[in-house]
Amino acid sequence: MLKLFCPDLYLESIYKLDLDSIKEKNIKGILVDLDNTLLPWDSKHVEEKLIGWTQYCLKEGFSLCIISNNKYKRIKRCSELLGIPAVFGSYKPFKSAFKKGMDIMGTQPEQTAVIGDQIFTDVFGAKRMGLYAILVKPISSRELYWTRIMRLMERRIIKILENKKLITLD
Ligand SMILES: [Mg+2]
Repeated sequence: MLKLFCPDLYLESIYKLDLDSIKEKNIKGILVDLDNTLLPWDSKHVEEKLIGWTQYCLKEGFSLCIISNNKYKRIKRCSELLGIPAVFGSYKPFKSAFKKGMDIMGTQPEQTAVIGDQIFTDVFGAKRMGLYAILVKPISSRELYWTRIMRLMERRIIKILENKKLITLD
């Protein structure tokens, strides 16, 4: 059971992701969460650094697709600003959200990574479908009330995983 909540990689931020290392694992497409993974929660500002990161991933041959539980308008705007597609109308951790994303990118499960900041949506959703799960630390502590409650449980799981030496922060 714990396995479904255990990311394959745990990073300080998306900028710490070593693209060569995931290339070696034959990853071809990355489903990226929006809030607190790419941008601070509900922020509308897209930094140059982020645009640079997405461009770099694309240049390195990866497909990218946004997979977010936020509102349609916000996802659409970020998708346009970053020039990458997004999944609409399906929500994590439901399988349909991840399937849609893989269809858009044209990748198989074993070629697909998911990057996100939440264990119960991003990591759990990825692991139950056999995708490579990358957990990042949330960019800001501002978030939905419900998410803040879930964070208490997430922190407990992360502690257990760290104690069992199943994850280390890179
Ligand atoms: Mg998030």
